[in-house]
Amino acid sequence: MTAHIEAASPHVMPTYGRVPIALERGRGCRVWDVNGKEYLDALAGIAVNTLGHAHPKLVAALQEQVATLIHTSNYYHVPGQEQLATLLTERAHMTNVFFCSTGLEANEAAIKIARKYGVDKGIAKPEIVVYEHAFHGRSIATMSATANPKVRNGFGDLLDGFVRVAPNDYEQLVAATEGNPNVVAVMMEPIQGEGGLHPMRAEYLQKVRALCDAKGWLLIMDEVQAGMGRTGKWFAHQWAGITPDVMTLAKGLGSGVPVGAVVAHNAAAKVLTAGNHGSTFGGNPLAMRAGVETIRIMEEDGLLAHTTAIGQYLKSKLQSELGSIDGVVDVRGQGLMIGVELAKPCGQLIGQAAEAGLLISVTADTVIRIVPPLILSEAEADEIVAKLKPLVQAVLAA
Ligand SMILES: *Cc1c(COP(=O)(O)O)cnc(C)c1O
Repeated sequence: MTAHIEAASPHVMPTYGRVPIALERGRGCRVWDVNGKEYLDALAGIAVNTLGHAHPKLVAALQEQVATLIHTSNYYHVPGQEQLATLLTERAHMTNVFFCSTGLEANEAAIKIARKYGVDKGIAKPEIVVYEHAFHGRSIATMSATANPKVRNGFGDLLDGFVRVAPNDYEQLVAATEGNPNVVAVMMEPIQGEGGLHPMRAEYLQKVRALCDAKGWLLIMDEVQAGMGRTGKWFAHQWAGITPDVMTLAKGLGSGVPVGAVVAHNAAAKVLTAGNHGSTFGGNPLAMRAGVETIRIMEEDGLLAHTTAIGQYLKSKLQSELGSIDGVVDVRGQGLMIGVELAKPCGQLIGQAAEAGLLISVTADTVIRIVPPLILSEAEADEIVAKLKPLVQAVLAA
């Protein structure tokens, strides 16, 4: 299989352990490979294809946009930026947006905001609290904020200025930051994605929000994976009834067109000014149209309520069908961001599921990640469980 992959891509850097299939087209929650084989897509390009594949409303809008204007420059006003920023800030109850193209760029900008926020207050060496199991990206700054040694190691010195604590342990957070005048921000994923689908508890988020208020720290929520309706609310932190100072978005924001965003309010919204930060591609007309239409179609089609309902349906079905199998440790998550943790490493399931016509992924070695398009139907949810169950049984029996 390895030989097959290498033969397929002699000139592409081998940065991914790829499953030896090549996908050619998609429709809804289905994709087909170059040999015509059909797959049910329960991965959605890693929580990216919010509206599934080739959504007729999105296709029409993007075709029109491509034929009108793809890219200009941030030397000029881009009306779509104001449109998408308005839609995002209304839904986030925040005020200002910076646009980029990817998740790591959004987090890089959030880290820059936090550091400059500190420097502007006279803190020469600002420090940001981050978490065990966290994943924030693969640039030098964002991989320094990331926990996984596989991501961090081998590139020389990392960026300093991070304090790492355990998720959901408020006392430890207080102890780790006690008497440290350099702390400027706390940065976390509301549900850790790459780190194994670990949710932050609502009560913990509320306590951290209050601590940040008391200390004058920025609360940064990395909603790159959990945001944009994936959990059934626009942003996952909204389940805890809190509002962060800075929020980063990317994956699901453009339904497959690369778009990233940093949403901010209060003092955090005023930190970056002309010359501080920028992006050539960020906020281009095509990306903005994708974001605007994704939100419009999600609302037209009632996808937040649908995601809550279908997510509950899928999770309880997974719990009843898989939960009692010996070696299934946990079924957890919110909306259509679901993890099934096994008692042993199960990375081989990615390829085995694809062979069985199902696209899923495995994170943190032992957690099956199910993040399908938000348009998933009940019949498709049933099909995910039916395809997954015998594979999980076989892996655990082996
Ligand atoms: C995927 C992800 C990122 C990185 O996004 P890229 O677009 O790959 O740079 C950052 N944070 C979280 C929580 C993610 O899931």
